[in-house]
Amino acid sequence: MATYYEILGVAQTASAQEIKQAYRRLVKIYHPDRNPGNTEVIQRMVLINEAYNVIKDPVRRAQYDSLITLQTQPESQDFHTTEPTEAQREITHYRCEQCNRQDSTLRLSIFISVISYFVLTQKQAHAHVLCSRCRIKHSLLSNLKVWLLGWWGFPWGPIYSIEALLKNLQGGEQPTKNNVALLSLLAYDFYTQNRYEECYKTLKASYKLWPDKETKEYMSQIEGIVPPSSRKPDNRMFLASPIFYNVPFLAVLTVLSILVLFPSVFHKGNSTYSPFSPSEQYYQPPSTVDTPPSAVAILPSTVEIRSSVEAFFGGFQNFTDTMQVVEQLEKSSDVQSDWDKIRELLLLCSANLSKCDVALMNKVYPGWGDMLSQKFIPAIKYYSDGMKLEPNMSSIEKGDALIGEVGVWWKNNSDALIATLQRERGLEFE
Ligand SMILES: [Zn+2]
Repeated sequence: MATYYEILGVAQTASAQEIKQAYRRLVKIYHPDRNPGNTEVIQRMVLINEAYNVIKDPVRRAQYDSLITLQTQPESQDFHTTEPTEAQREITHYRCEQCNRQDSTLRLSIFISVISYFVLTQKQAHAHVLCSRCRIKHSLLSNLKVWLLGWWGFPWGPIYSIEALLKNLQGGEQPTKNNVALLSLLAYDFYTQNRYEECYKTLKASYKLWPDKETKEYMSQIEGIVPPSSRKPDNRMFLASPIFYNVPFLAVLTVLSILVLFPSVFHKGNSTYSPFSPSEQYYQPPSTVDTPPSAVAILPSTVEIRSSVEAFFGGFQNFTDTMQVVEQLEKSSDVQSDWDKIRELLLLCSANLSKCDVALMNKVYPGWGDMLSQKFIPAIKYYSDGMKLEPNMSSIEKGDALIGEVGVWWKNNSDALIATLQRERGLEFE
């Protein structure tokens, strides 16, 4: 059966951008609207969508990749054979990637890392085979990294970071299918080395994840060899759980963050110092004054503001897309066409933003239109002037400075803004 990568026609090492491009290309060719009545094309499109939905998600992709590796191991779990064949000897000897230990606590765990860069937030997932001790260390380190680098991008930084922290603190995501495959290979490996005790514990761990008849049978075969006293699992589960170590660790981080970000909590005065940016004071989120019902009637109708809102988020998306291309520039094989794309996206972005009614947006949410007209639009203008084949760095730096301020404004206001749009305007967001 073809792998998802083969279906999409990309290498297993392809970047997220390459995968997106390949998918769009295939959709153009195989879209059912272009091939009416052709059931083969419809089936093909179903496969393409299935492949894309897995590969575009970093966590599911890491899971899928490791499964490919595990499943291409020779099928070898015949515990009746005492003399393994050549093919069976070739199985990978799974060990802890960090400490080289080989025991029944080995699991394939997927850890998530989140890195934010202004409006760009990158989520990545890495699969590691680790023993229970190294899983704890890895989980603490991954979460420290998320804490330092992940949360502050908008709007995805905090969302991805919370997801990552929760998954990492459980020792990463441990997909059942992958781990059952890993454990049965490991059990067989122990068996061929005559390490029956560990073989039994590994089978037991596998049975706990996926209670199937075959595993049970192998277990009862080994039971004849291994005395009952040495069949206990390797670790007491509670102490082996990364949560046990992560909770105090995250609690300390939280207290430290509050101390750094809101020193005013410990000064009874009115200090609103924040290390982010001096410009923040101009963009204090509005105090939580509820709009009285009469004011709602004065506001323009939903239909009128919808086009501004859509234009704003459209421009916003164009900007994030631009930054994605910019990030890939270093590795680009066709710099000229990437620069063309950047210019095209920036043009689209400013076209979208110029469709916004600034005054209207200020009425919908205080300061929104001002941020747009004074920061966001000028920033895009600076970027357009600066991002040429011979980049004009001073123009790009001006753009960066303004975008930084846009970022601060957005961080302080996006939740309230989106809540306002939903509550008062009935606009839904994905
Ligand atoms: Zn280890």
